Amino acid sequence: MRVYLGLGSNLGDRGEYLRQARVLLCDSGKIELIQVSGIYETEPWGVTEQPEFWNQVIEIETQLPGLDLLALCQQVENKLGRERQQRWGPRTMDVDILFSEQMSCQSPELTVPHPQIENREFVLAPLREIAPELILPSGKPVREIRGSGKAVRVADTLRRKILDLLAAQPGAYVSGEAVSKKLGMTRAAVWKQIQQLRAAGFVIASKTKQGYRLDSVPLDLDEWVFAGELKTRELGRAFYIFEQLDSTTLWAKESIRQGVRHGLTVMARQQTAGRGRLQRFWHSPRGGLWLTVVICPQLTLADAAKLTLCAGVAAVIAVERHCGLRLGIKWPNDLMWEGKKVAGILAEVAGEWTSLHTLIMSIGINANIPADVFRGELADAVSLQMILGQPQNLNALAAAFLECLENELALLEQAGFEPIRQKWLERSVGLGREVSVWRGNQEFRGRMTGLAADGSLLLQVGQEEVAFVAGEVKMRMETDKKP
Ligand code: ATP
Ligand code: MG
Ligand code: MG
Repeated sequence: MRVYLGLGSNLGDRGEYLRQARVLLCDSGKIELIQVSGIYETEPWGVTEQPEFWNQVIEIETQLPGLDLLALCQQVENKLGRERQQRWGPRTMDVDILFSEQMSCQSPELTVPHPQIENREFVLAPLREIAPELILPSGKPVREIRGSGKAVRVADTLRRKILDLLAAQPGAYVSGEAVSKKLGMTRAAVWKQIQQLRAAGFVIASKTKQGYRLDSVPLDLDEWVFAGELKTRELGRAFYIFEQLDSTTLWAKESIRQGVRHGLTVMARQQTAGRGRLQRFWHSPRGGLWLTVVICPQLTLADAAKLTLCAGVAAVIAVERHCGLRLGIKWPNDLMWEGKKVAGILAEVAGEWTSLHTLIMSIGINANIPADVFRGELADAVSLQMILGQPQNLNALAAAFLECLENELALLEQAGFEPIRQKWLERSVGLGREVSVWRGNQEFRGRMTGLAADGSLLLQVGQEEVAFVAGEVKMRMETDKKP
């Protein structure tokens, strides 16, 4: 039987306790170790005023029945000096039975699957590493579930500390000895980390007797680089970067069911099921910026359209600040360059019908996508890399968008929609032009005259000025190739 066990320690030499727990479990002769996750430093759960934990998940093979396995786990806890004075209190060692595809148990002494398994990031983060495809009780794979609380891989904390040390002396060499002394690790271990950083796209020069020098950072999404670029107060302060997701929008929707956090941001290097407006497929290969941010605005549902337009304005300003390129906005929210689509924005309301409790704002920017991707179906799209002739730093671009969005949202809340409306109109690509708008199968042709005070699109159709709401129509300009 394959079983996943969760190990945790927050007293004494935590790494050593974890190691001893693994040894004791194996020494029993009843357990074979199949996989071991990395170690994660995590926030305490339940009782927060205590030292941070180190957690790890291991996969084992055993023939022991559930209760015997529990007894063995508790034996190991006791051997390592576990004392139970306080529920969820500090401990030298906690060994919990988390999950097994072959075991389900609901007795007073043992509950498997562990009832909290899907809520705790200190369990999910290490589990994601060794069993991303494992299906948990909710029916979802581990890779798509995010629990609450913070969990940082211990190797990653070293990685971050090394980068911090190198970045603190820009352009200068920092000696390997200084790094190893400050971080309490061997010079060989420092070297290993440097190699891993290089593999992740950091350019680090090394010279004998002088040490290491950080010359450049990766353009691809990276936690350390993104955190360094971010200048917002709230948006993006809690963020996640995934290698791949079905969709960042779906992920954000799921995660707010466990409690909404204003500003929570999720990015994926690629998406397998990205969606645009009106549920249309959004091709999201590597190289693009696929980002969702959760916003809890002080506004009402009637303001939803304004918020989307606000995000469009923020995106245009962000791109302009980031690389000097001035894009246009096609109503409601496509960013255009010479008639081709560079980016799209999608806003979805999650909350009470009457109040705009939570808005899930997603943006997709075709940033570093090579030209050969935009063929056939996608011939009306273009990337920043194609326009500018060089790839962009996705971390800086993402941070710029969040910063501009934060500014425009503050403006909207303080000064109302009018200044946003003006900025939007200045950058509109359809204004004064002949356009077609479809409401279902009904087509309206007319001249785009502007934006109403509620954010709807205004069209002069014959003698009449008609207003359209973003949720129900699509628009085409005469220059467009397709509806
Ligand atoms: P939590 O279970 O929320 O992580 P904890 O690990 O701090 O809390 P303990 O004091 O280690 O809790 O265990 C309390 C009791 O939980 C144990 O005596 C054990 O009988 C029971 N228990 C129930 N299900 C499990 C399980 N899946 N794994 C380990 N112990 C379990
Ligand atoms: Mg526990
Ligand atoms: Mg326990």
